[in-house]
Amino acid sequence: MSFLWHLNNNLKIADTKLDVAEVRSKADKAGRRAAASMESVERLTLVLRAMWELLSENTTLTEADLEARVKSIDLRDGRLDAKYRPEMKPFVCRSCGNMVHPSRTHCQFCGAEIVDGADPFNKVQAP
Ligand SMILES: [Zn+2]
Repeated sequence: MSFLWHLNNNLKIADTKLDVAEVRSKADKAGRRAAASMESVERLTLVLRAMWELLSENTTLTEADLEARVKSIDLRDGRLDAKYRPEMKPFVCRSCGNMVHPSRTHCQFCGAEIVDGADPFNKVQAP
């Protein structure tokens, strides 16, 4: 009886150790994803700050103009929620005229580099 009780407890302890290892692994992965997201946000913030400084120094645009445009873009999806959700519409390749998926960097038909459809924020890379 005592042997079986100890055996059962040892099996439960082993299962618990496996569960803890799995939870640690998932937490580590979530932490790495969160760190990558923060790096992306920091890059975007850097580009936005540079763009705003260039605009405000070289034009007559004001912060009120900026706030109005932010609100206008925010409302494009019908909701004022401080989020940007662009539609994923295909666009026309300037080289061959075929439709190209917006996620592509090159036309899948002629191989031309997609410049106009590329998101400039994606061109900034960590040094
Ligand atoms: Zn093309």
